[in-house]
Amino acid sequence: MRDIDLVSRLLSLQRPWRVERVALDPEERRIDVGLAHRRNASFRCPECGSRSPLYDHVPTRSWRHLDHGGFRTWLQIQLPRVTCPLHGIRRVGVPWALPGSRFTIAFERHAIDVLLETDVLGGTRLLGISWDEAWNIMERAVARGLRAKKRRVIARLGVDEKAVAKGHRYVTLVCDLDRATVEYIANDRKQVSLDAYYRSLSKRQLAGIEAVAMDMWEPFVASTVAHVPDGESKIVFDRYHIMKHMTEAVDQVRKSEHRRLHAEGDETLKGTKYLWLYSEENLPESSRGRFAALRALNLKTGRAWAIKESLRDLWDYRRRGWALRHWKHWYFWATHSRLKPMVKVARMIHGHLDNVLTYFDHRITNATSEGLNSKIQTIKKTLMVSAMGSI
Ligand SMILES: [Zn+2]
Repeated sequence: MRDIDLVSRLLSLQRPWRVERVALDPEERRIDVGLAHRRNASFRCPECGSRSPLYDHVPTRSWRHLDHGGFRTWLQIQLPRVTCPLHGIRRVGVPWALPGSRFTIAFERHAIDVLLETDVLGGTRLLGISWDEAWNIMERAVARGLRAKKRRVIARLGVDEKAVAKGHRYVTLVCDLDRATVEYIANDRKQVSLDAYYRSLSKRQLAGIEAVAMDMWEPFVASTVAHVPDGESKIVFDRYHIMKHMTEAVDQVRKSEHRRLHAEGDETLKGTKYLWLYSEENLPESSRGRFAALRALNLKTGRAWAIKESLRDLWDYRRRGWALRHWKHWYFWATHSRLKPMVKVARMIHGHLDNVLTYFDHRITNATSEGLNSKIQTIKKTLMVSAMGSI
């Protein structure tokens, strides 16, 4: 009897709900708390709030609650259903959980606290929940945060994918490029990941989207075309993502050339990786001398670097026609370079050229997500903190 009292107090249950039994399983290190409602209790319809007669009880449902003394704790109840004259037979709402959740509100708050302090993988270990459950808690928190926000139109969006959990998982980020804020974060980088964002928008918000900067990634393209009116013409494969592909290609050229030189006992390229990744004006002063000497050597890597640097000029043109002329020269040069990684990226860009040149209509780039590149933690926190107010 006494543990029933204790648990009732821990849960701060209000009438008509009460604890009926508490079962502790030392083997499984788990506590099952059986709940019930008082007889003669009256309930309200979850839709309209009017008092409605009890109809029946549905099979037992459980919610994960906060651990007690290291024991996983579950609340269980056969939920009553009411018959509302207006809404028919409905399951009643419960004060300890949000609709549709398999966790109690107390557990969700705790989980959010934990997830704010660690990454998702760490959170799953500390909380004893799966990756998907952790994501679900976060996504629902973020969705509540979004609903609480004012429904403003965001004209220029940036969509980006980020690797998390040591590259085993991806998330999709949607940024407001003008305000440099993160608007949405979703599990994975599939079409459904981005669909979920667009579906959260009103017709007016969808129609207000003027341009969407993104990588050449088909699921994001498909989602944008499906949801944004005239989406095709609003997609911009942006400078940031294209240059990322170029930089990776230069790095591949460097790697294979270094391997070949190294085999001949030539260490010219050793320790030069980061020098080739800089754009010309960002090269640190202290490395300029060394870099100039390297460039004078007529290396394949030097040629790849020059091709990459020349592509950057594309976005400096004021008119699409001039940019297109630059592109044609550049494309010929890149595809005749006999540097396979460069040829490959050049062809990929060529295949998407229409939506690269939409830049000259919209002039956007994913600079926001570039800045946020290493800050996935901060992003998540911003969103979840804004969501915290709503439970
Ligand atoms: Zn009703």
